[in-house]
Amino acid sequence: MSSIKFNLQELKITVITGAGISQPSGIPTFRGSNGLWRNYNPQELATPSAFDKNPFLVWEWYYWRINLIQKAQPNPAHTILAQLESQGCNIVILTQNVDDLHERAGSRCVIHLHGEIMKTRCVECGEKNIVLLNIVNSLPKCPLCDGLLRPAVVWFGESLDSTTINTSFERLANTDLLIVAGTSSLVYPVADFPFHAKRLNPNIVILEFNMNKTPISPLTNNTILGPVEETLVNYFKHYEGF
Ligand SMILES: [Zn+2]
Repeated sequence: MSSIKFNLQELKITVITGAGISQPSGIPTFRGSNGLWRNYNPQELATPSAFDKNPFLVWEWYYWRINLIQKAQPNPAHTILAQLESQGCNIVILTQNVDDLHERAGSRCVIHLHGEIMKTRCVECGEKNIVLLNIVNSLPKCPLCDGLLRPAVVWFGESLDSTTINTSFERLANTDLLIVAGTSSLVYPVADFPFHAKRLNPNIVILEFNMNKTPISPLTNNTILGPVEETLVNYFKHYEGF
């Protein structure tokens, strides 16, 4: 495997991660056949209209997913990224995943582009960041106004939080090494992030780790194909401290 050698501690590293980094931990992807739940396609459930029509059904699905995530453990791909940070690297993770596996692996600088599955938002008063305490098959209610709570995640047809986008763009403008791991780079606007970073900084080094080539592969300095829990570890284990 050809490697580009860096002094990692001198670089600002940004990592974009997607479902492919959580899949080895047993988290089903929306795109895979194992993403189905009771024969529902996630795209039928992760929408505002599905929630309006049948909030209990949508919550049942989220409880099922939360349960899977709570039982799952971070895999070596999460761990190597956390180790880069603990070795003194300036590293920020922009994840499309709503699980907390990066944090449980030890990463501290994690931006959740699509929200966090363990957080909720009140559909009545708009109160944010209410942590879901009781994982039971019932409709969770807002502690402030008794309104219905919804998962604080970005559903199909919804926009990403503007503050989150702005923070991500500021970081991309200030990145030396961009690692794109476990994402098909098909879901916008995140799919455009590497192009945006390259426009802002033509000298940026972009490395992609994924099972298959993606629309961003022609942009990268190197696309390393294979399971991310192996390729990421193999790539970075050559550096001092690993
Ligand atoms: Zn409320």
